[in-house]
Amino acid sequence: MNTLSDVAIPEFGNWINGREEPLQNPMDSLNPYTQKVWARVNDGTVEDVDRAVKAARDAFENGPWSKMTATQRAELLRRLGDIIKRDAEELARIESTDNGKLYKEMLGQWQYLPEWFYYNAGLADKLQGDVIPSDRPNFMIYTRHEPIGVVGAITPWNSPGLLLIFKLAAGLAAGCTFVVKPSEHTPVSTIALARRIHEAGFPPGVFNVVNGQGSIGAALVSHPGVDKIAFTGATETGKRIAAEAAKNLTRVSLELGGKSPNIVFNDADLDVAANGAVAGIFAATGQTCMAGSRLLVQEDIHDAFVEKLVAKARTIRLGNPMDPSTEMGPCANVPQLNKVLEYISIAKQDGAKLACGGGVDPELGGLFVQPTIFTDVDNRMRIAREEVFGPILSVIRFKDEADAVRIANDTRFGLAAAVWTQNIHRGHRVAHQLRAGTVWINAYRVISFAAPFGGFGESGLGRENGMDAIREFTETKSVYVELSGAPRDPFKLG
Ligand code: NAD
Repeated sequence: MNTLSDVAIPEFGNWINGREEPLQNPMDSLNPYTQKVWARVNDGTVEDVDRAVKAARDAFENGPWSKMTATQRAELLRRLGDIIKRDAEELARIESTDNGKLYKEMLGQWQYLPEWFYYNAGLADKLQGDVIPSDRPNFMIYTRHEPIGVVGAITPWNSPGLLLIFKLAAGLAAGCTFVVKPSEHTPVSTIALARRIHEAGFPPGVFNVVNGQGSIGAALVSHPGVDKIAFTGATETGKRIAAEAAKNLTRVSLELGGKSPNIVFNDADLDVAANGAVAGIFAATGQTCMAGSRLLVQEDIHDAFVEKLVAKARTIRLGNPMDPSTEMGPCANVPQLNKVLEYISIAKQDGAKLACGGGVDPELGGLFVQPTIFTDVDNRMRIAREEVFGPILSVIRFKDEADAVRIANDTRFGLAAAVWTQNIHRGHRVAHQLRAGTVWINAYRVISFAAPFGGFGESGLGRENGMDAIREFTETKSVYVELSGAPRDPFKLG
């Protein structure tokens, strides 16, 4: 096993049954900033998936994990949280090198992620059932929330560590075991996490990682030994996964794409709102599921607000993601860059007006796209309906509150939304009408381990985070206990 510091190109094997396997079939991982190979992982096979699922099944049914109490599992979760806290800088460096997001953003994420383990450790031994007030005097009925079993977790490239831990912390607290298939574009941080899970003392087979292409994810979805698929990624992939999982009635939770509306009313603090609009679309190079990619601006402040925003967008510093003064990094990979550039031309063809940006940055080149703003966007245009996942903002005018809500909800997605207003009544009133899983009032892009996260409509199925997420990793069982000991009529129900 190599470490980042002792070889030029570090290698990371699959992690199966408590052991990092030697690299059989190397697959390169590129640094989007340098566009050079910086690490090699194993390009997994269907046979690897099968071995990993068997290891997870065995750990779930027979291994020491299956005999642990929830309190003992919680202790391991807390230890893992401590190790991640200790190693946050190293994990952030890996993530930033793999996906091109700013080191300072990745560091913030990894420093915050231990809280997911602490919070779910606290919940693990409070997952209690109920004693049901029974309508049958000679029966006591109670419920148990039992772990669902083996979870196949499939993650995207934008924040692989965060999006895995959303699933992992709750699933481990519930008593599940995992086989993870990270994105082929960002495979490294999940293996780095596996090493730390091992160090924390989780028994072999509880956490397994098989790297590889989408076909490896598909093999995991169709594997009969998997009880639940927890997926984060594109809506179209999510639909394919749901259809495939249905063949075995494998449970699914899906965290998918978005086209989130960021609504600025004429009574907002326009400087604060402009800052929020920038955070919504240009932070993380727009490569976040909750990007505020549709900016709805009330018509009487439209021109002044756009002017403010364009001035801000033009000052955004692009550069090396490791440099603390950089504000926007590159696109994460070549297919993503091509998709972003294609949508810029689609927007132009459909009649949107380019206010700033509009292509690859002339100085930096490579995968760097300029912060781009389109005005005169009609909500029916493709740039307003389809997820781009890049630094492209569509500005849409609205007349009044009803018009804003109508345009905001006119989408197949429903992941997030924001309202900017200084009128407290309007803020809540509009928030209640928006069809989205998360709504911010006078803020954007804030998350918490304690608040449920997920989408309406085609943005997903199920919720991660918060008190209820642990339930998504359980099955509920009702137990009936006969109290009289007398024989019952075998031909009568109940
Ligand atoms: P993607 O759907 O292309 O890939 C996600 C993962 O699925 C990868 O690991 C990939 O290898 C795997 N995969 C591909 N085809 C598969 C198949 N047929 N069966 C099983 N697995 C398969 O997504 P991406 O491009 O990596 O990520 C960007 C997308 O993720 C965007 O749409 C974004 O909105 C979404 N996303 C959603 C959230 C959320 O929480 N709602 C968070 C981040 C990203």
